[in-house]
Amino acid sequence: MAKKEREICCFCGSSAHGDLPLLPSPIFEGINICADCAKQVQIVFDEYREKLKADEAKPKAPASKKIPKPKEICAFLDNYVIGQEEAKKYLSVAVYNHYKRLSQADSEDGTEIEKSNIILVGPTGTGKTLLARSIAKLLDVPFTIVDATVLTQAGYVGEDIESLLTRLLQAADYDVKAAERGIVFIDEIDKIARKGDNPSITRDVSGEGVQQGLLKLLEGSIVNVPPQGGRKHPEQHMIPVDTKNILFICGGAFEGIERRIAQRLNTHAVGYSSANKMTKQERENLLHHVAPQDLRAFGLIPEIIGRLPILTNLNPLDRDALRRILTEPKNAIVRQYVKLFKMDKVALEFTDDALDMIVDKAIEYKLGARGLRSIVETVMIDAMYDAPSSKLKKLVIDKDYVLSQLKKANFENISANND
Ligand code: ADP
Repeated sequence: MAKKEREICCFCGSSAHGDLPLLPSPIFEGINICADCAKQVQIVFDEYREKLKADEAKPKAPASKKIPKPKEICAFLDNYVIGQEEAKKYLSVAVYNHYKRLSQADSEDGTEIEKSNIILVGPTGTGKTLLARSIAKLLDVPFTIVDATVLTQAGYVGEDIESLLTRLLQAADYDVKAAERGIVFIDEIDKIARKGDNPSITRDVSGEGVQQGLLKLLEGSIVNVPPQGGRKHPEQHMIPVDTKNILFICGGAFEGIERRIAQRLNTHAVGYSSANKMTKQERENLLHHVAPQDLRAFGLIPEIIGRLPILTNLNPLDRDALRRILTEPKNAIVRQYVKLFKMDKVALEFTDDALDMIVDKAIEYKLGARGLRSIVETVMIDAMYDAPSSKLKKLVIDKDYVLSQLKKANFENISANND
């Protein structure tokens, strides 16, 4: 019978044998598998699954030859960040130790290198985020930057603390083992400082509550992370992530902390008014003395401070630093504009006094490093509009051109509005 002839196993070619019939495909007519072959397939798949699991469990320590030494890390940072030598040094050592700790994961001598999370204190716009971003370029571990201001205590409007790890998981393409070796930069950590001395009076859902939540992440524990983040997907399965080896770098401006440092040091600059009158130099010098107790006075809880043992500061940027920022970093603003014009075959040049004038204006309007870009943008807008349609081969930007463009754009008023 024709039907009988087709009833053979499509893997081994044998016909039904023993008590067990051939298993027909539910979709394709005439396609069957015998019990022996089905068993064999099961064994092959089980072995494959085991292998996948074993591969995943293997510690993925970076090859020691690839671990960059602190001085190499620092030299790399020099390409992007001007000044801030102390912060660079601390960060380089911390990242180097982070690598060493990871490669030590399976050591048997019982000495466990504990992680040292870092806190960077420095005025806004002095390069805290830039340092973190630059470090990320160098590292081959997952890295993410999160803003502490969006975090609130569980159950309140905002993001749960666990969402920090969602971002890290995403950066690691949901490779949990990789995420567990990653680095998280928490920006604006000062914004979750305790709001008042008595937190029981006003509910402090975005302050101390968040700090308490952060604690368990910083100290190292298994945290259930919503893979999609947020609270919009209540049905999602949580992914357990061990934070023991995740390095946390926190950054914050801690505006006014100089006052607390001054009080502690018992200098003449005590109290509001005198602190406000401090010169930039005095403030900078005070920041060098920042100590854990100042963070406490500012409103960080002692437990959090204890989990951030490396404390370093960034300096306010002086004229010289701003001037260097314009031209020296790998992706310096001036270099970017030169490149933009080169694409239109225009050789763009800035004279030294034009660059000095740009820095002067950034200082005059208290715009800091962030303002340099908006000043250059304002200066260059007309040229960027005209050059592509002109036969221009060379464009030299001098001091007078800078001044006239800023005047034309009413820059003084624009920057005042942006304050
Ligand atoms: P914050 O300290 O507030 O995190 P950012 O790192 O975001 O400041 O700095 C803002 C921008 O200013 C950077 O993107 C960069 O262009 C410039 N900048 C600030 N500080 C430096 C620096 N030390 N070296 C080079 N560029 C800097």
